[in-house]
This record gives sequence, C-alpha cells and structure tokens, in this order.
Amino acid sequence: MARILVKGLGLVFSGDVANPRLDAEAILIDEGRIAGIGRADEWTGAATVIDAHGCAVMPGLIDNHVHPAFGDWTPRQNQLGWIEAMVHGGTTTLISAGEVHLPGRPKDPVGVKALAIAAQRCFAAFRPMGARVLAGAPVPERGMTQADYDEMGAAGVRLLGEIGLGTIKDLAEVVEVAAMARKAGLYSMIHCGGPSIAGSNLMQREVVIAADADIVAHINGGPTSLPAAELTKVIEGTSRAIEVVHNGNPRNALHAMNVLREMGRLDRLVIGTDSPAGSGVQPLGVMRTISLLCSLGDLDPGIAIAAAGGNTAHWRNIEAGRIAVGAPADLVFLDAPIGGAGRDAAEAFTSGELPGIGMVMVDGEVRTARSRNTPPAARIPEMSR
Ligand SMILES: [Zn+2]
Repeated sequence: MARILVKGLGLVFSGDVANPRLDAEAILIDEGRIAGIGRADEWTGAATVIDAHGCAVMPGLIDNHVHPAFGDWTPRQNQLGWIEAMVHGGTTTLISAGEVHLPGRPKDPVGVKALAIAAQRCFAAFRPMGARVLAGAPVPERGMTQADYDEMGAAGVRLLGEIGLGTIKDLAEVVEVAAMARKAGLYSMIHCGGPSIAGSNLMQREVVIAADADIVAHINGGPTSLPAAELTKVIEGTSRAIEVVHNGNPRNALHAMNVLREMGRLDRLVIGTDSPAGSGVQPLGVMRTISLLCSLGDLDPGIAIAAAGGNTAHWRNIEAGRIAVGAPADLVFLDAPIGGAGRDAAEAFTSGELPGIGMVMVDGEVRTARSRNTPPAARIPEMSR
C-alpha cells in the first residue's frame, strides 16, 4: 500500500478530548496508518495526493452502540446495507451491545456462548465498505457461570452485551455478572432506563450504579429514559463511561452532557445510536447526536467528535477514533453543507446542521467519495496520482 499525502486541510479534529483540534494542514499516510501530521512541504514521495481544498477532517467515528445480527442485514427493520449506510455517515467502527435482534436468539448458556463466538468471528472477517464491526456481545442470562465467561474470553470474545436485556435484572445478580465478565476480560455495559424490546427490564439507578459496568448504556434511555434527576445521581454515583444515544431522549442527552461538563469529566462521554432498533436505522445518527450536543448544548464540536472518537476508544481499549501518528488512517472529510449556516464543519455543527461528507477513508483506503447520505459538502477533496 503506497504512501498517501493529504494536503490543504482546514480544520483538523483529533478525536482527543484533551487536545481536540490540531494545528496542521497535511497528513501523511503509510501502510494504512497515519505516519505524519503537519505541513505538506515536510514530506516528498507520496504516490497519491489528496487535496482537501480547505475542508475539515475528523477521525472515522465510533458508534458505541449497535445491535447487529449477521451480515449487513437487520431483522428489526428487514433492511439490507445498514452498515454501509453508516460508513456514508462517517461511522467506520461499530460496537455491538448485543446481537439481540437475531431471530430465535438462543438463551441457554451453551447457545449464548456459541452465538457470541460465531458473531465475533463473522464480523472480524466481514467488513462492509471497510467498516469494523466489533461484535460477539453475549447478553447475560441466568445460569451462566464464571467458567462460561472465561470460555468466551479465552475464545476471543471481548464484549458483554447490555446487562438487563436478558433474564439478569436484580441487583445482586447484576453485580455478580459484571464482575464475572470483567474477570474474563469482557468490556461490559448495562441497560439504563425503561424496557426496550419485549423481555427486557426496567433498570433503575440503584442497580445501574451497583453494577459498575464499564459503560452505562444510553443514560438518556433506549428509548425510555429515567427522570433527569436520576441521571444526575447515576453519573455522580459511577466513575466509568456515560453513553448518550441517538435513539433516546434528546432532552436528557443534553442534561447528561451538562452534568459531565460541570464535573469536568467530558472524557466520560461516549456516543452511540442504539440502532438498528424499533426507531429504525440511522446512517447519520452519530453526526446528528454531535449536532444536537453542539447546537442546543453549546458543546465544542471538537469535544463532541472526541466523544465519538478517542473517548470511546479509551473506554473500549481499541485504537480507532483518533487522528494521531500511528493510528489507523480512518479519515472523514467534511464541510458545511451547501446552503446551510456556517462557513465550515464546526460552524455547521454549532448551527444544528449536518455537515456534508466529501470522502471517507478506512485503513488508508478511500471507501467513498461524496457521501450518498449527507447533504453535499461545500468543499470536497480531490485525489490525484
Ligand atoms: Zn438498551
């Protein structure tokens, strides 16, 4: 894979909450990874040059909360191509919160384990438009033991599906399951708020706090939220990641973000769509959530992008979601949409618009030029060899 020089960049969003904007106009890519960030005249010998024509670049976004089945198909909406549609929305890494929509999903321990391992394997080998789908997120059920979690961990399973979507719901068993999963090396999340699909449970503040899962899933409801005052107590009562989702209560998404901001802990904020779900597939769901937080919550766009980038990467211990030397070259080129408020992508977000995407690159490979799903960007990158 040849060296690629990206030049002529306007804004460069790093995905790092501590340093969200980089002072650079060029990025060098080598072997699918970012090899340099700086000025175009620092490097020579690139076989391919991409001129950004002044548009912005951000890391490929991470959707911290999806519910895949198998393939690029969702049984919930019987829709094909939802993962590719996400790539057209700037999301290049998707993390499963449980393969709960799979028709006939097994609930006995051996079936749960088999499904988790099969899903992990299938998606590791299947990358629609280059998207990384981290799947194999077993939903904990009664009857599963430490040996079951250890067996999955040894087989390469790294995620625990939402606690509360299965039979596990009481405080003592929730605490036990989260601890077993952690011991087995699985990153855990707990459903927060009212029941979603049939058979899932209302998960209240006391249980969510006691679980001490790595991520409080959809603090703003999936889709039914706990009351805002309860959210404050959950955020104050836990120390790990707090997720806001597109398919939740938007008012309470803003509330949760404000609580974290007042605590000085925006590094705990992560973003997901909680899709596919009853409310559909949202190819632009992560960007729409960023736009919500920036426009109605006055959040800096660089911080919001970090919430769907480096923050998630940190809490999940993965390497996507950042523009940094050594990181995978997952780059999304974006700009203000034609005819909208704002002169660049940052002003578009703070004006409540959706920026247009002009190009998406995953692992240094261009996967699409102008997105089929966003409005057209004012400035789009151009590639020359
Ligand atoms: Zn949920």
